[in-house]
Amino acid sequence: MCFKDLGLIEPLLRAVAEEGYTTPTPIQIEAIPPLLAGKDLLGCAQTGTGKTAAFALPILQRFHANQYKGEGTRPIRALIITPTRELASQISDSFGAYGAHTRLRHTVVFGGVRQGPQAKALKKGVDILVATPGRLLDLMGQKLIKLRGLEVFVLDEADRMLDMGFIIDIRRIIAQIPEKRQTLLFSATMPSAIQGLADSLLNDPVEVRVSPETPAAETVTQSVYLVEWHDKQALLEHLLTGKDATRVLIFTRTKRGADKVSDHLKRAGIKADAIHSDKTQVARERALANFKKGKTPVLVASDVAARGIDIDNISHVINYDMPNEAEVYVHRIGRTGRAGTPGVAWSFCGVEERYLLSAVEELLDQTIDIISEHPFPSPLPRKSQISKEAAPTKKKHWRRASRPRRF
Ligand code: AMP
Repeated sequence: MCFKDLGLIEPLLRAVAEEGYTTPTPIQIEAIPPLLAGKDLLGCAQTGTGKTAAFALPILQRFHANQYKGEGTRPIRALIITPTRELASQISDSFGAYGAHTRLRHTVVFGGVRQGPQAKALKKGVDILVATPGRLLDLMGQKLIKLRGLEVFVLDEADRMLDMGFIIDIRRIIAQIPEKRQTLLFSATMPSAIQGLADSLLNDPVEVRVSPETPAAETVTQSVYLVEWHDKQALLEHLLTGKDATRVLIFTRTKRGADKVSDHLKRAGIKADAIHSDKTQVARERALANFKKGKTPVLVASDVAARGIDIDNISHVINYDMPNEAEVYVHRIGRTGRAGTPGVAWSFCGVEERYLLSAVEELLDQTIDIISEHPFPSPLPRKSQISKEAAPTKKKHWRRASRPRRF
């Protein structure tokens, strides 16, 4: 199967070849033909599956074949809503790359930056708009964005959008777009709230599920280090001196945690930076750019900030803290092992976090290998049966045994 077999036109085939893509990914194979035919789509796909091209290429192709020829400023014909600014700019960049040989115009709007340049780009007229919900509603309120001519509406990362409390914003946006349109909804997980949203938005959709049985990317080698939390920093520094860890994304549960880990790495002589939503947009962009260029090989991120990080060749994802929800684990490790390349995911699991490990294993329906050969082993063996309820009763003893070290 090649891109040509999917019915794509020459300007798009040339662009994907320039991006270095030789074969379409499964979601592209399944989604592109029905989307070209104008169908609605419900896509259950994890990150790194190539879903951006799966929706961007058909949009570009349909608009390229049917360019706006009316009077005045061109109308916005496609709207893509995503939860984070990073994801929004990456999707916008992808439209730029895939649409390089079309005359279609796109732009991106998100909060946290001045609206002036965004308003200027909008005034020139764009065919495709990528947006985060808050700034979109602001600009709609100011009549700088009109969606009367909308033909395609894409809701990306719908589950994350729900988690971040964007559902009311989404409903407000939907109330202001034409009912007759093509609608696409993508979500890594399909809880009942998302299914309900999909039922209300989509009209006889094609359903595409990529690897629903094994939600974690198969190209990622996963393992766990059982380590007490006061030893995590030392273990991290020990592992990062290994030569394989060339581009490493570390996840912490909190923003403060991300700053702390990054500061300690810097003090240990390891080039690192932190990215989270309390940082300014400029600081976030600089951190991402340095990570992309390899200037800073280690990036420490909180979950929300990391949502849109689409950087190739991340060699390792490290869960410094186990995520509170098993689904988040899947998102995190999906940052490595992208588009068929191998990746490594290490999770640091303290005794109080064992029940979170069990939840992940239950979701994946697999046992994750434990690496016991390391300098900071936990005194307690794997006890995946330690439950959330059981953990606090033993906590006292663990605390006494391992006095927290002040960093
Ligand atoms: P996405 O799931 O859209 O975030 O894409 C994940 C990564 O896969 C991005 O870095 C894309 O550039 C890359 N990608 C998308 N489609 C392909 C393809 N057919 N072949 C190789 N890489 C791809």
